[in-house]
Amino acid sequence: MAFPNIKFYYQAAVIAPLLTHLERGNRPQWVTLENLAIKPFLTANLIWLHKRSRPKPTSIPAQVQLALQFRDLHRKKFETAKPLSMATPIEAMTYYIPTFHASPWKERGISHLAQVYESGKLLSFERLQATHNLPHTSQYSYIQLKSLLRAAHTDDITEAKNTEELSIWEQTSLTGKIPLTFKPFSGCYRLILPCQYISGSTSASQWEMDLQTSFTEGRWSSMISSVRKLIKSTPLIEQHQKTIYRWYMVPLHLHKLYPLTSAMCWRCKQDKVSVLHIWWRCPHLIRYWEDIQKIIAEAAGIQLPLDPKTFLLLDIPRGIPTNSKKLLYHVLLMAQKLIARRWKSSETPSIPNLIQEVDTQSMYETSFSKAYTRPSHLSNMRDQWRVWRSSNIQHSSR
Ligand SMILES: [Zn+2]
Repeated sequence: MAFPNIKFYYQAAVIAPLLTHLERGNRPQWVTLENLAIKPFLTANLIWLHKRSRPKPTSIPAQVQLALQFRDLHRKKFETAKPLSMATPIEAMTYYIPTFHASPWKERGISHLAQVYESGKLLSFERLQATHNLPHTSQYSYIQLKSLLRAAHTDDITEAKNTEELSIWEQTSLTGKIPLTFKPFSGCYRLILPCQYISGSTSASQWEMDLQTSFTEGRWSSMISSVRKLIKSTPLIEQHQKTIYRWYMVPLHLHKLYPLTSAMCWRCKQDKVSVLHIWWRCPHLIRYWEDIQKIIAEAAGIQLPLDPKTFLLLDIPRGIPTNSKKLLYHVLLMAQKLIARRWKSSETPSIPNLIQEVDTQSMYETSFSKAYTRPSHLSNMRDQWRVWRSSNIQHSSR
């Protein structure tokens, strides 16, 4: 049973209304009133400024002041890129560069920092001219912006490559709409709750010992949060948790608890087999994992190292596009699920069965994306899978 953390519950209740300030269009009356009180500043801009650079309006309402203060405490949970978020409005640059002229940029549709980046790189002035018809006179403000970003080490963003990887707050700022699935109060509470990182737990150290490696707290937490963010299927998220937390009892555990139970692998009959054997090293699984590696290479175009770190814990190499990552999470977690379904059985899961299950998952993801998000956002995982399926019908009967 989990009791709410009163301190974070209170902070979330104070922070959540700030999110409404990022919405455009039909906003409640209180947002207008709060903005009137701090005129000529705008709360939607102040949110993205660093504490040190943020102006202090004399008439700022107490609740906005407190909300900004609490949000600063948890800044890392709300923004993906450091030190400047891609959701920072171009207009907010005037607080960093007092002589910066934001109007020509805004008039030509460049409203946020995200629009001056492409694949993590700052666009050239010529490119911005070509795409947004930015006037020659803005070249000076471009140089000012570039040198500010360079000084802030933001001229090459490697952490947030596309909008799908941005946080809910950043997405809201860019689209002007809170995503339908995000409930501001409970969502903010979940965001600021101290993460239950697996790092330091018994299962983490056992995995690190088994795999002869060590992961930082950040690496563990990104393995967990990335799956939660990209996958909608609860059984698959649960599968990842169960694998990471070593929930399943393997023959060696069972034998220790119940000495009359055999410590042999139920597939290859090797004696005293541990977690890594049952999930990975068993000779009966070698072909299965190799086939899965091939499927991922063909369908997602990614050559994953045949390594239990990647295939079991989902410690994926950096730089993989979101849609391919989504697809390979589905394939790998379903592959694990099929092993779990045959627990204590001598049977090895089959590739046609795996393909069939991924087909179903891909269908669920599509229905979810149709119901809750913009179709362009989630459909590519299904498209990649469909293209591969239509060119590889023979796999289904292998
Ligand atoms: Zn075995």
